Amino acid sequence: MVNNSVAVASVAVVLATYIYFNLNKKSLPKFETSLIKDQFQEFELISIVNHTDEIATYKFKLPSATHKLGLPIGQHITIQYDFFNEETNEKSEIIRHYTPVSLDLETDGYFELLIKKYKLGKMSQLFRNIKVGDKIKVRGPKGFYDYEKILPKKDHLYMICGGTGITPMYQIIRYVYLNKHLDKTKITLIYGNQREEDILLKKELDSLVNLMDGQLKVHYILDNAPKDESWVSKIGYVDKDLLVKCGLKALDESDKNNTQVLLCGPPGLVSGMKKLLSSEFNYPRIKPITKSDDKVFVF
Ligand SMILES: Cc1cc2nc3c(=O)[nH]c(=O)nc-3n(C[C@H](O)[C@H](O)[C@H](O)COP(=O)(O)OP(=O)(O)OC[C@H]3O[C@@H](n4cnc5c(N)ncnc54)[C@H](O)[C@@H]3O)c2cc1C
Repeated sequence: MVNNSVAVASVAVVLATYIYFNLNKKSLPKFETSLIKDQFQEFELISIVNHTDEIATYKFKLPSATHKLGLPIGQHITIQYDFFNEETNEKSEIIRHYTPVSLDLETDGYFELLIKKYKLGKMSQLFRNIKVGDKIKVRGPKGFYDYEKILPKKDHLYMICGGTGITPMYQIIRYVYLNKHLDKTKITLIYGNQREEDILLKKELDSLVNLMDGQLKVHYILDNAPKDESWVSKIGYVDKDLLVKCGLKALDESDKNNTQVLLCGPPGLVSGMKKLLSSEFNYPRIKPITKSDDKVFVF
């Protein structure tokens, strides 16, 4: 009887939270979405802003000035690149994943991708050669994470990422910021890069730290020490000591911490973190495909 009352009370709390949050959150009025789940569509490039030789922001036009992309927070798009493969002398195609840095909540009629181009990267070749007026093939939404649908909300997100793995994290951080009057989720971002100049969105992240009154903490990790090291949390790899220093606790049976760890980045970082979380922080073995509600989600 007592257990039943507790269960009913818990369901009522979750329901009330859901209704309150959804009535009050910054949400979109009725809009037309551009993506079609299983079908590639073409979007025209309207501008390029080069940040360095390797990094640029690409802005693509949606079907009308009032269209939204239609991407849930935490999901991504896939881009297909058709090219002539000189090794096989045949037409080839590749697809890769990208998380826009623009949010539907803030933009109409366009979306933006922040891209790092790699010397030997196949898709990087497309972004190296693309010109304003050219079109790319895009399909989506893709992915198993949907931040808005996670209930009850987590108390604390630990985001561990490297390089371009920042883009899904940035999307979630920005969404939490836009809803910060209701969404009190704490976020600790642990962001690794080789060099200071490789850090993407640093200005935006530092500004969000100031705007979010302690709700967001950012730890930069670098392989190579910059001239002034004072703002870097560690030179080297993400290890147990660093995660403890950042506040991550071992998972206890009652899971009072109500935390979730999000991972995105190069395969070495992701597999290293999966092992560390299981062996040192008591997290259950992390499956190859993770879901929104799992204790650890891998993008
Ligand atoms: C969910 C998700 C979201 C993503 N969002 C973005 C995004 O917003 N912007 C973005 O630029 N990328 C993003 N990526 C990475 C992207 O999907 C590609 O992997 C990347 O653009 C490289 O593709 P490529 O074909 O040019 O390189 P590939 O041909 O796949 O790789 C060739 C070589 O490039 C180098 N390389 C490729 N990827 C990496 C890497 N991640 N770290 C270090 N070296 C690498 C390696 O030397 C590799 O051997 C995302 C990935 C995922 C899974």
